[in-house]
Amino acid sequence: MKELKYDVLIIGGGFAGSSAAYQLSRRGLKILLVDSKPWNRIGDKPCGDAVSKAHFDKLGMPYPKGEELENKINGIKLYSPDMQTVWTVNGEGFELNAPLYNQRVLKEAQDRGVEIWDLTTAMKPIFEDGYVKGAVLFNRRTNEELTVYSKVVVEATGYSRSFRSKLPPELPITEDLDDKDADVAYREVLLTKEDIEDHDYLRIFIDQETSPGGYWWYFPKGKNKVNVGLGIQGGMGYPSIHEYYKKYLDKYAPDVDKSKLLVKGGALVPTRRPLYTMAWNGIIVIGDSGFTVNPVHGGGKGSAMISGYCAAKAILSAFETGDFSASGLWDMNICYVNEYGAKQASLDIFRRFLQKLSNDDINYGMKKKIIKEEDLLEASEKGDLHLSVADKAMRVISGLGRPSLLFKLKAVAESMKKIKELYLNYPRSPSSLGSWRREVDNVLTEFNKSLS
Ligand SMILES: Cc1cc2nc3c(=O)[nH]c(=O)nc-3n(C[C@H](O)[C@H](O)[C@H](O)COP(=O)(O)OP(=O)(O)OC[C@H]3O[C@@H](n4cnc5c(N)ncnc54)[C@H](O)[C@@H]3O)c2cc1C
Repeated sequence: MKELKYDVLIIGGGFAGSSAAYQLSRRGLKILLVDSKPWNRIGDKPCGDAVSKAHFDKLGMPYPKGEELENKINGIKLYSPDMQTVWTVNGEGFELNAPLYNQRVLKEAQDRGVEIWDLTTAMKPIFEDGYVKGAVLFNRRTNEELTVYSKVVVEATGYSRSFRSKLPPELPITEDLDDKDADVAYREVLLTKEDIEDHDYLRIFIDQETSPGGYWWYFPKGKNKVNVGLGIQGGMGYPSIHEYYKKYLDKYAPDVDKSKLLVKGGALVPTRRPLYTMAWNGIIVIGDSGFTVNPVHGGGKGSAMISGYCAAKAILSAFETGDFSASGLWDMNICYVNEYGAKQASLDIFRRFLQKLSNDDINYGMKKKIIKEEDLLEASEKGDLHLSVADKAMRVISGLGRPSLLFKLKAVAESMKKIKELYLNYPRSPSSLGSWRREVDNVLTEFNKSLS
């Protein structure tokens, strides 16, 4: 079998893998990125395609342009289940043509020296002496199987986790996902019969009956085109997502022309804290495979790019020291936890709370502002749920009808703070990972008990 050597092998060219390649390019490393899909399908996956502009600014990623940008977004409107309360949260974002943008980033990485093979699947890891040392690939363009050795493998295989799941199960990097920590999501892109009103605002509808444990979205892709779909919590034995979609589409998107269906499809999304460790000997895991999705809104493209950025940073520092062990790549965890992971862990708590609320609670809470728009914005931006002192008294009064809701909210805010602090004190080396993980698990267990 043919054998090749690279410094870095990136498996998967979605938002995570492509941004890692982009950030690592022009640094003097020999990099190969492979993806199972043909070039023109890379980045083509079921998605709402909405990404906050802030991610691009922070990471120095190029803005989408031309056909890559379908619609500029100025905010989100959040609807209560009874539709009586609508919160507007302003903030700039993009509604993308995700495959086109994704492929442009890959092309730019390629122009900067990254080798990219499409139609190439990583079949299995090369695992020797406790290290990931590369992968056996199958290239369907050349119809050949080959072995690629690399100092670091970046696994960016999305929800499939198709590479790391083949490593010995005792490695912490193989950590699995509880079905309840994932959402089943489905969306269609359709033309509308009339111009969409306020087409620069995304709409989100919360309703435990029409999308239990998740929400419906209506994301305009322009004046006459919309991405509409829903997510529901996995592992709960709910009916199929298609049933919900068929039954409630008219409620949330009465203006779509069903004969003008452009795209459809569903997939799973992890909705939890990140993988306990995203680095091990010779390997870094990023994107959906590393559970980097925001647990509350299920957006994962921005955080996939953050994880790609952190991977590049950690890899560059490992090449400086020549240490490709878990310790040598540990900066991956530190970087990701500081940039996004601590907030994600805190939102994992918030997500568990939200999924247990009844429609009555949500209607009441939104109407009486037991949680306010600002709280929600702060929680989603920073993972902090502050019930500010002056406001608290007001909210106690208005919340009197449902004191238990207010008490629960207080417990939620405390647990969010606790877990975020734990993450901000992420172990400085792999040796403390086990004890730290037990502390995190304890917070989650206690919190789950307090909910039931
Ligand atoms: C219905 C739905 C709606 C969503 N809406 C939004 C949204 O509006 N905004 C948002 O930010 N996020 C959204 N998300 C989440 C978002 O789509 C993902 O978090 C993000 O795209 C993940 O990127 P990734 O690069 O990690 O994975 P992927 O995009 O899945 O890329 C993985 C790549 O790896 C390749 N691959 C897998 N295994 C192998 C292998 N063995 N060898 C070679 N290649 C391999 C695949 O071909 C694929 O190209 C949504 C998800 C769903 C399901």
